[in-house]
Order: sequence, then structure tokens, then C-alpha cells
Amino acid sequence: MVTVVSDKKCEYCDGQGYVNLLLGGSESCYACHGTGTVKARNSKAQKQTQNSKY
Ligand SMILES: [Zn+2]
Repeated sequence: MVTVVSDKKCEYCDGQGYVNLLLGGSESCYACHGTGTVKARNSKAQKQTQNSKY
């Protein structure tokens, strides 16, 4: 099991860095800007609260 400290996989694009469009093709994920990872602390827009355990 991989332990991620600072970055975590982008949930929107599943760590791929891009998302598939319904009309076909793909575009860079706006959530992670094509990196596939997001900063763990940059989650103000998410509805999940993940700052209770750490
Ligand atoms: Zn993403």
C-alpha cells in the first residue's frame, strides 16, 4: 500500500490528468490541471471533511 503524504490522486480524473468528454476526446482535468494529483490541503471545494484524523 502506498502512503501519500503531500499529494493525493485526483478523484475527478482518477489520477490520469485528463477527463474523457461525453462528446468524444479528452481534455486536461481542471481539478488537477493535468497533473493527476492534487494537494491534500487544497480541498476547500470538496464536501468531504478529511482533517479530523490527521
Ligand atoms: Zn484531475
